[in-house]
Amino acid sequence: MKMTSNLHPKLCSRSYKKEPTCIEVGPVYVGAGNPVVIAGPCAVEDLDMITETAREVQARGADLLRGGAFKPRTSPYSFRGLGLKGLKHLAEASRITGLPAVTEVLTPNDVLKVSKYADILQVGARNMHNAALLEAVAGSGKPVLLKRAWMATIEELLFASEYVLQRGNFRVILCERGIRTFEPMTRFTLDLSAVPILKDLSHLPVIVDPSHAVGRRHLVLPMALAAIAAGADGLMLEVHPNPESALSDGPQSLGFEEFGQLMRSLESISAVRTSFRT
Ligand code: PEP
Ligand code: MN
Repeated sequence: MKMTSNLHPKLCSRSYKKEPTCIEVGPVYVGAGNPVVIAGPCAVEDLDMITETAREVQARGADLLRGGAFKPRTSPYSFRGLGLKGLKHLAEASRITGLPAVTEVLTPNDVLKVSKYADILQVGARNMHNAALLEAVAGSGKPVLLKRAWMATIEELLFASEYVLQRGNFRVILCERGIRTFEPMTRFTLDLSAVPILKDLSHLPVIVDPSHAVGRRHLVLPMALAAIAAGADGLMLEVHPNPESALSDGPQSLGFEEFGQLMRSLESISAVRTSFRT
């Protein structure tokens, strides 16, 4: 496929590395063929809720635990996370369950601290263009989950990944999480065509976050299934013990039962999904 600019992303491309990149995170392999599921609350709210969520999502088949400690909220007046305390709670829930932990890092200054507690460092949509942060997370040596900015093209996402790869860290997971369009029925528009396009252009694993894309709970299941059918290497899903009282992103968070239903539906999709060129 032809790129739109003259300077092509290089290190992330299939022409640089033909075989798909598989990323080992503790007992989990991302990009190995079987879709992985990262589940957990938008934000860690206290030790009990993150531990309970970890146990419940694990019982229903989740592979990795998510939970924000440093939250880049659109409004500075919204809940912005527990910071270091949130990291410690997340690490404790991860230790108890054995689920590797994924959390967002907001600034280069925090990279060392977050690396101490998390197994995967997430660079969020709002920071995809932050070159200094991309280079700092690369230097941590940890796997990096890189989310697409909602105003970024697919090629710009690939260029952002290049900042990490250039520093010698090839453990990058790309994440489609919705782009901004004129459509107000969903929070963002999930660009599922990005999945086969990214898989075609790049050797890096590609996951999908339908929760932030659709913004409403009842739309998460169909889009999660569609993402896996489209060839995604995994999903990131927001799950909360009591979504109605969540401190952030409650409307798009699944309860445990809804998460369980989604996981059961996934099994049949995974079994029949189209196999893409890898
Ligand atoms: C998140 O996953 O916690 C998050 C803030 O998502 P995004 O960066 O995609 O908005
Ligand atoms: Mn969220």
